[in-house]
Amino acid sequence: MLSDNFRRVDPYTPGAQPHFANMVKLNTNENPYPVSPLAAKAAAEIRSSELFRLYPPTDAGELKRALAEYHGVNDDQVFVGVGSDDVLAVIFQTCFASGEPVLFPDISYSFYDVWAKMFGVNHATVPLRENFTIDPSQYVQPNGGVVIANPNAPTGMVMPLSGIETILKANPERIVVVDEAYVDFCKETSLPLLDRYDNLIVVRTYSKSRSMAGMRIGYAIAKPNIINALESVKSAINSYTINWPSVVIGSAALKDEEYFRSTIDKIVATREWMTKELEKLGFRVLPSGANFVFASHEEVPAKVLFEKLEEKHIFVRYFPKKRIDNFLRITVGTDAQTQQLVDALTSIIQDYV
Ligand SMILES: *Cc1c(COP(=O)(O)O)cnc(C)c1O
Repeated sequence: MLSDNFRRVDPYTPGAQPHFANMVKLNTNENPYPVSPLAAKAAAEIRSSELFRLYPPTDAGELKRALAEYHGVNDDQVFVGVGSDDVLAVIFQTCFASGEPVLFPDISYSFYDVWAKMFGVNHATVPLRENFTIDPSQYVQPNGGVVIANPNAPTGMVMPLSGIETILKANPERIVVVDEAYVDFCKETSLPLLDRYDNLIVVRTYSKSRSMAGMRIGYAIAKPNIINALESVKSAINSYTINWPSVVIGSAALKDEEYFRSTIDKIVATREWMTKELEKLGFRVLPSGANFVFASHEEVPAKVLFEKLEEKHIFVRYFPKKRIDNFLRITVGTDAQTQQLVDALTSIIQDYV
């Protein structure tokens, strides 16, 4: 039968994409502020480009060079993908074939587990400490590679670089991936460690800090031999992954540093204010270095809050998973959205207790 030939996997479950007028959408960590005006201008200008007719550069060309310059690395140290999900999937296929288990935290980006299973990568999860921090010493054991999100998701917690360095040092023959999807909202980037550690891959995305989730741009920075390996595996599957608009708009966005910084500053300020407001309402809020917070109420179960918020068209994320099933992950929106959230939670909690 035809269906016997189908490969079956447990897919990643992304946050819902509801569309209601006046909804408050705080469930997928999108940036509430518009894309950079320079990127928007670049988008408007390519509408009638002759370049639509031609294949794009296989390595994202101009975008790769713009990213190298932005980060102060060489062109041959950058790999560009269709969102960091694509970059991470290529890394799993390229770098994790030793047979020993690839290690990542038990509570982290749930896609890691999906890819490991999909690509037949032996893997094991390492429990976070009781306080939800990552214990670097747990990654000092035989393994086939390590994947750490820093800040971690969905906790938002930042691991100090000293911890990352412990892991890099202990595994010189293994690839250590640091997924920095949220690093622009804190300061703890592992990029400076690239000079000293040949086994490091830093993964970044335009989706959160650059307000470009819909554009699908992600990238990795590492030593040239690693980048070469990633390019060769990617080219064996699909040579032309990065479309022309992504190259042009992605490059333009990097020139708008001032706008970029101003939206980040606003989000960080709102995050700190939102944290205090939630604490006043009786929430325990984990310290966040990201554009979301992870919070648990002392009396009202997270599932109840999630459902009551949804009735009011306020969307947050709830994970029915051991250890975190009494937490909500709430994206930092604008001040107005955050006020709506706080008002809604205030009334829900009053009605419940
Ligand atoms: C959002 C996210 C990604 C994926 O982002 P893309 O939109 O595919 O670039 C990767 N890792 C983590 C931890 C994320 O939260």
